[in-house]
Amino acid sequence: MGVGMPLSTHRDESSVAGPPRSGGLFRVVKPMHMAASAVSETRVSSAVRPLAVDVRDVSLTYEAADGEVAALSGVNLAIAEGEFVSFIGPSGCGKTTLLRLIADLEQPSAGALLVNGMSAGQARLTRAYGYIFQAPALYPWRTIEKNVMLPLEVMGYSHRERRERATRYLALVNLSGFERKFPWQLSGGMQQRASIARALSFDPALLLMDEPFGALDEIVRDHLNEQLLRLWDKTGKTVIFVTHSIPEAIFLSTRIVVMSPRPGRIIDVIECDLPRERTLEIRETAQFVRNAQRVRMGLRSGHSYDE
Ligand code: ADP
Ligand code: MG
Repeated sequence: MGVGMPLSTHRDESSVAGPPRSGGLFRVVKPMHMAASAVSETRVSSAVRPLAVDVRDVSLTYEAADGEVAALSGVNLAIAEGEFVSFIGPSGCGKTTLLRLIADLEQPSAGALLVNGMSAGQARLTRAYGYIFQAPALYPWRTIEKNVMLPLEVMGYSHRERRERATRYLALVNLSGFERKFPWQLSGGMQQRASIARALSFDPALLLMDEPFGALDEIVRDHLNEQLLRLWDKTGKTVIFVTHSIPEAIFLSTRIVVMSPRPGRIIDVIECDLPRERTLEIRETAQFVRNAQRVRMGLRSGHSYDE
């Protein structure tokens, strides 16, 4: 295929968004490690689409100077290609740790995980994912265009190709015309969009986003949420998105993974079948509010579980 043609990977919506379900707008999937039927259900649905991420009974204990920290325990999670999955849970429940495991930046203490059907280490070598942090982490001495081109330089793309891709992906995040600006000349929201363009520049199938809009004000965040949703729709990428925000998780996701702290566990996986085309107004609907209640209930139960 032509290099990096994410716009051409438009998906068959019926297979990606999942079929409309009767009896409620959300389908609740029990924690997979607790219900064998849920596991087989997940496997059946993923037979349609290959798995982008397959986490099997993963635990991670950090060896800290002052003792061990059990960050994750017995996590099972299968994410199909093209899904938009959010991890939500209180601070310290292991959301970043789970993302870093998928990115091969941490190793599990027990269990196994596959990314695009290979080990996380192999997936990292094939540059299967783009990782977006809370802070945009752009180099201040490079222009926006040169920041986007950086991973392409490292990967040995030709100058022409680097330019073409920077132009294309900056356009995709609505930053055309800002190529020659430096990061400090852009607002926080624009900088974060530039970092998304950089993560997209080498066309990874998987985007790992760790609270990317957490530091932005609500108006900018709303706007970026809408843009991210459109971008996901256009590109067909799998997105794993960490957030503290219940409305953000519901607005964006096809599934919401609710996590509990000490040690981090998956306590609920909520399947969201809000219409694929969503505008911010959807947050005013009864359907949205019901979903928020469901997530809140999960978070609350996770908390009391440990008290
Ligand atoms: P979250 O992203 O949900 O806030 P993290 O994954 O960052 O949570 O952390 C989960 C737990 O693991 C926390 O208790 C945190 O203090 C601990 N932790 C994270 N990274 C390390 C590390 N490198 N060494 C020791 N403990 C860590
Ligand atoms: Mg974190």
